[in-house]
Amino acid sequence: MFNALLLDKQEDRTVASIQSIDESRLGTGDVLVRVEYSTLNYKDALAITGQAPVVRTFPMVPGIDFAGIVEESTHADYQPGDAVVLNGWGAGETHWGGLAQKARVPGDHLIPLPAGITTQQAMAVGTAGYTAMLCVQALEKYGVAQDGDVLVTGANGGVGSFAVAILAKRGYRVIASTGRPEEAVRLRELGAAEIIDRTTLSKPGKPLQKERFAAAVDCVGSHTLANVCASLRYGGAVAACGLAQGMDFPATVAPFILRGVALLGVDSVYVPRARRMAAWDAIANELPVAVIEGVAATIGLSQAVEVAGQLLRGEIKGRVVVDVNR
Ligand code: NDP
Repeated sequence: MFNALLLDKQEDRTVASIQSIDESRLGTGDVLVRVEYSTLNYKDALAITGQAPVVRTFPMVPGIDFAGIVEESTHADYQPGDAVVLNGWGAGETHWGGLAQKARVPGDHLIPLPAGITTQQAMAVGTAGYTAMLCVQALEKYGVAQDGDVLVTGANGGVGSFAVAILAKRGYRVIASTGRPEEAVRLRELGAAEIIDRTTLSKPGKPLQKERFAAAVDCVGSHTLANVCASLRYGGAVAACGLAQGMDFPATVAPFILRGVALLGVDSVYVPRARRMAAWDAIANELPVAVIEGVAATIGLSQAVEVAGQLLRGEIKGRVVVDVNR
């Protein structure tokens, strides 16, 4: 038996409860993992509260990521005792995810825990930090000018906080856009050189605006992403990964066809293994442990439902690690 946060559908409502579950109910997969830590991502909060159709089949254990220790394996790459990390691949959406003490998954979905970080630190980074690294790597692969400002929207969120830290560490001048200017000290500690109020970007704007940013990481979508595109300087690029303001994209083609601006889509769920490993290696090598730990607070499994609501209300800053054994 193991403890899990279980989501069920009652009439039209998603009901979440902590349950003791028999291991035989775990899905198929060639690796059984003793989960140590999971996290609460924006997507997990949507799943737990039922505010968006993240969960494809009920009952479901949410949790799009976890880190833990292999308990049983018939996969060639993994032996009992190996420390592993999982991000995405439909965990918590189409098959049972990380907000549980046990998970059975295909070994191909796992990567080894990068050297130099613990399972708790890996989940402080979580899908948010890994997505932030994918965004920065996408911008650099495209070719971002080193001499311009780089904007991060949703800067106080999980992806945003890590994007600020990674970009600053790599020497960029980072402008952090946030609805919580009272957190300016925290953002400056992460490496932001300038902080702007998110309302300057979140309303409908002109198709082409002053050329302000060499590049951007956008966690927000909607009018914000449209305004970011309109404010990129000639040849600039934005890595778009989020929809915190909305899934819509009320923009014109003007920035693309008149300024050669590039919109780079970033997905973390089905990224090929080589790019996952590259992102995690870069995180483990570049980010000081103090930054990783400073960005996160740890809660117990029983607090996950309450904190999911707070996360969607924008009351959480940084990352939430879930100790599934607490
Ligand atoms: P968080 O909830 O931690 O952060 C989201 C941030 O967005 C908030 O902290 C807030 O930042 C800002 N925000 C919230 N509501 C609004 C609004 N109405 N208008 C403008 N800004 C707003 O989420 P994550 O950092 O974990 O994820 C960020 C986004 O990226 C989410 O949409 C998530 O679904 C997506 N995502 C996508 C992935 C992918 O694979 N493409 C992977 C991971 C996440 P502030 O307080 O600074 O204003």
